[in-house]
Amino acid sequence: MTTVAIIGGGFSGTMTAVNLARLSSQPVRIVVVNHRHPVGRGVAYGTPRAEHLLNVAARNMSAVPDHPDHFVDWLRTRVEYASLPEPQIRETYAPRRVYGDYLRSLLFNYVDPLDDHHPAHIELIDGEAVDVIPEPGGGATVSIEDGCSVLADRVLLATGNQPPSGIGSTGESFAHPAYVAEPWSNWHQQLPEPGSDIIVLGTGLSMVDVFLTLGELNWSGNIIAISRNGMIPQAHFRGIEYPNFLPPDPEQLNLQQWVTLMEQHCEQLRRIGENPGIIVDRLRPHTQRIWRSLSLDEKQAFLRQYAPRWNVIRHRIAQPIHQSLTEALTSSRLRVVRGSITELSDCQQNVGVNVKCLDGVDRTFEGSLVINCTGPNAGFSQSTLPLFQNLLQRGLIRPDELDMGIDVGPDFTVTGRDGENSSFLFAIGPLMKGTLWETTAVPELRGRPCASPKSCSKL
Ligand SMILES: Cc1cc2nc3c(=O)[nH]c(=O)nc-3n(C[C@H](O)[C@H](O)[C@H](O)COP(=O)(O)OP(=O)(O)OC[C@H]3O[C@@H](n4cnc5c(N)ncnc54)[C@H](O)[C@@H]3O)c2cc1C
Repeated sequence: MTTVAIIGGGFSGTMTAVNLARLSSQPVRIVVVNHRHPVGRGVAYGTPRAEHLLNVAARNMSAVPDHPDHFVDWLRTRVEYASLPEPQIRETYAPRRVYGDYLRSLLFNYVDPLDDHHPAHIELIDGEAVDVIPEPGGGATVSIEDGCSVLADRVLLATGNQPPSGIGSTGESFAHPAYVAEPWSNWHQQLPEPGSDIIVLGTGLSMVDVFLTLGELNWSGNIIAISRNGMIPQAHFRGIEYPNFLPPDPEQLNLQQWVTLMEQHCEQLRRIGENPGIIVDRLRPHTQRIWRSLSLDEKQAFLRQYAPRWNVIRHRIAQPIHQSLTEALTSSRLRVVRGSITELSDCQQNVGVNVKCLDGVDRTFEGSLVINCTGPNAGFSQSTLPLFQNLLQRGLIRPDELDMGIDVGPDFTVTGRDGENSSFLFAIGPLMKGTLWETTAVPELRGRPCASPKSCSKL
């Protein structure tokens, strides 16, 4: 029987396992090795908090590519959604923990299935995969931290984003009771007195999560959010049909031509009172192909000049959440500081955050709680995770040309140090960010390997 080992049990690993199990006509043993976040949920859907909502409407969150309404239909089976009218349920932004329930319900259909005759089954291992050792006869052994191992014919890396990197000279080693290195921990169980400030490093979606939780807990102190660009996510809006934007051959345009074209259309949309974000939405189904067609210089220029703006338009939030943020900004309960965070320091009970502000002045802000929401570590070659250190050392993987993830071919096979595509090692999800750019959200991820019988045969 073929064995497929999947390292990582978030959305990507879970849905690859489910699709492999449901579409396979041959006997297959699927072993999902996962740690740190609950299997089936991963980072995004592992939050236990009800105020953390999906940032994509239910109608576009089906995990099953051949059933576009699969999530909406599943939501209807829950009592709190059962009586919602169709248009309302489709547009709802469900709690992410509910989406985690959905993914787990799919996964556990195939873990020890009742039907013994089903050709595929999924096994779960709770542990950190630390190495993948090629076997002379083909396939590889996945080593797990506790000494266990899995012998597999194929191995899929579905490890998600790198953890956030540390800040300043002390990097990841900075420790202080009032410093939270990752926003996914239970920091809300030790809130400071409301008279003090909470500082959030970053102004993106994780900052929004923190803001919502503080509101939910009625914490009435002030929040300072710091980032280089100071941009907070934009709100979802009702778009219009805008059919004449895309050129017939999008891959033929270079970056400068794209910028000119987009500026023209943004201007046109503004003139007619519509949101220019429509352009980013229209591009979304084509972004991966366009990204691949750009040169390395163009990709680097895009990351330097346009990516922050692209991200705030692309990763939007539900309107009521945006409204609360705007109100907090207006009342100064939330303050956004623009600047580069250079250092963290120990200020007795508080943590000091040194910032080179936009006006060139160095300032220190003191927080009685400081939460790092700066997002995943971007330099892949600097990864401190044992799995990647070992794979890099073995030459089984190499960083992509932008050092955002690993080099992966169009069929998800991993490219080794020698430039050869692996016969057994595959990758999916945020690890492919440098290769595909858009590869982190469900609408892109659900079309990945094993989404169809044809693509399933690759694993
Ligand atoms: C806070 C947040 C909210 C989001 N909200 C949305 C949303 O509303 N809609 C949307 O479409 N997208 C959303 N996203 C994007 C999200 O990244 C994807 O939807 C998806 O969850 C990514 O899943 P993944 O499996 O690739 O990665 P992850 O969810 O990160 O899962 C990877 C798993 O692998 C484990 N792992 C890593 N290394 C090892 C190892 N060596 N051994 C064993 N296990 C390992 C990790 O601990 C983790 O459990 C959100 C992302 C975040 C961070």
